[in-house]
Amino acid sequence: MNDCIFCKIVVGEIPSTKVYEDQWVVAFKDINPVAPVHIQVIPKEHIKSVAEFTEDHINIAGRLLFAASEIGREHCGDNGFRVVTNIGDDGGQEVKHLHLHVIGGRKMTWPPG
Ligand code: 5GP
Ligand code: ZN
Repeated sequence: MNDCIFCKIVVGEIPSTKVYEDQWVVAFKDINPVAPVHIQVIPKEHIKSVAEFTEDHINIAGRLLFAASEIGREHCGDNGFRVVTNIGDDGGQEVKHLHLHVIGGRKMTWPPG
């Protein structure tokens, strides 16, 4: 956990462009955006992924999704956006601290690769 880059972003040890913060959640611009809007929404608590959720995480799960909703509407307006969370190696998760990608500002394709 000490080596977790997203934990370091939470406490400001690694700089980021924060767009939202509350008691449970921090959101910041992705360093390598895949679309005009690409924001990471993360819990302040180190949780590896949604696959590690227990009943103790029900509040934070709701807080994360609520923040993603507010941020997506604020940054993408009425055009819609995508919320994605990658889990583990097959899910393509590189940073092992739970994050919701809020992606928008262009038309998305489906299915993902
Ligand atoms: P994953 O592949 O784990 O789902 O997504 C990790 C995301 O974190 C990637 O989109 C990557 O660009 C972003 N990222 C990795 N390191 C940093 C960093 O130091 N700062 C910011 N702002 N984003 C990062
Ligand atoms: Zn972490």
